[in-house]
Amino acid sequence: MSGYDLVVRSRRTVLPDGERPAAVAVRDGRIAAVTGHDDAPPAGTRVDLGEVALLPGLVDTHVHVNEPGRTEWEGFATATRAAAAGGVTTIVDMPLNSLPPVTTAAALAVKREAAAGRCRTDVGFWGGAIPGNTPELRALHGLGVFGFKCFTADSGVPEFPPLSYEEMEEAFTEIASFDGLVIVHAEDPGSLSVPVGGAYDAFLASRPPSAEQKAIEQVIRLAEATGVRAHILHLSAADGVEPLSRARARGVRVSAETCPHYLTLSAADVRPGATRLKCCPPIRDAANRDGLWRALAAGAIDCVVSDHSPCPPELKRGGFDEAWGGISSLQLGLPAVWTEARGRGHALADVVRWMSAAPAALAGVTGKGAIEVGNDADLVAFAADETFTVDPAALRTRHRLTPYEGRELTGVVRATWLRGEVVDDTPRGRLLRR
Ligand SMILES: [Zn+2]
Repeated sequence: MSGYDLVVRSRRTVLPDGERPAAVAVRDGRIAAVTGHDDAPPAGTRVDLGEVALLPGLVDTHVHVNEPGRTEWEGFATATRAAAAGGVTTIVDMPLNSLPPVTTAAALAVKREAAAGRCRTDVGFWGGAIPGNTPELRALHGLGVFGFKCFTADSGVPEFPPLSYEEMEEAFTEIASFDGLVIVHAEDPGSLSVPVGGAYDAFLASRPPSAEQKAIEQVIRLAEATGVRAHILHLSAADGVEPLSRARARGVRVSAETCPHYLTLSAADVRPGATRLKCCPPIRDAANRDGLWRALAAGAIDCVVSDHSPCPPELKRGGFDEAWGGISSLQLGLPAVWTEARGRGHALADVVRWMSAAPAALAGVTGKGAIEVGNDADLVAFAADETFTVDPAALRTRHRLTPYEGRELTGVVRATWLRGEVVDDTPRGRLLRR
């Protein structure tokens, strides 16, 4: 058949089976054909990227948009502009830091209303599991949330309290009853302490790797007991990998993600007062970072997603004991991870698997995550050998604080397409349901 709307060809097209020269033909917003590079069919618009790589749009399943309620921290318009500028075409928004938190059907409606007509990328939503809202979970699932987030320790905001391990068992049992997904911020509350003073070392010591490991062991125990599918969010401690691998080997349905900052920064990069690098769990030492890379290479960690959690600069004042914990990184995750990954001998196809295919599979975002016939034509032109120095002025997020300021990174996003249309400032993003 002829009559394609768009054909994009690249000598470096990243397909599910690896990178090769190919042409991608688009009709009605979907990928209609993938052909040999030199067999590109006629189309209304033809784009030849040459040696610039063509990737599927990234799927970032860990984004805190904060609208409504804390829109001065970040909002749907700014977050999705930044996402698109960073090669991300789908985000799944976390249920907390916005107000009301998405722990009821009514709150999900408020969230969707706030997002409607503002998004430059597609946006899905997570629900939340907090003490007392177990009866709400099935309805939220029915309304299309991709799964349920819970905390084992203080979330940082009072309206989203953590679950005790007993309460987790109740929530997991309910979520298992409709075969839902639970995603867990895993730090054991009994293993955390209050940092003394504002130095980074004290903050780091207050949230040791053992806190993650202990909470992960509890999540595994409860996943095994209830049969729920569980996912560990933002794994920072390489020590957490072994219990996960052992559990998977015996058939427990548990997966894990890590984040660009844990893979590309280390505690030695944190200068005094540089609270833009504060997050929970914390960025640990270089040996730990190497451990995370080994786990990623071995497939013991599935995904790399941003945990984009920005706030106004005022909230980053003070020491590491006082400042808001959260890193803003949505626009820079791809080049940050690619820069480090290529230095460690990984291929672009690995990065695409970790940042697009695996998160889409985790959350069950259909029609995304790969350049494959039938999928949405969410595409990224990525100059994988070009370098740039991170200038906060180029960021499209509401605030321009970044831990990567001044760093030289490799890989420039040249263009992003959502369903076959170049992402510009028109809010064409759709609100997704599971
Ligand atoms: Zn988060």
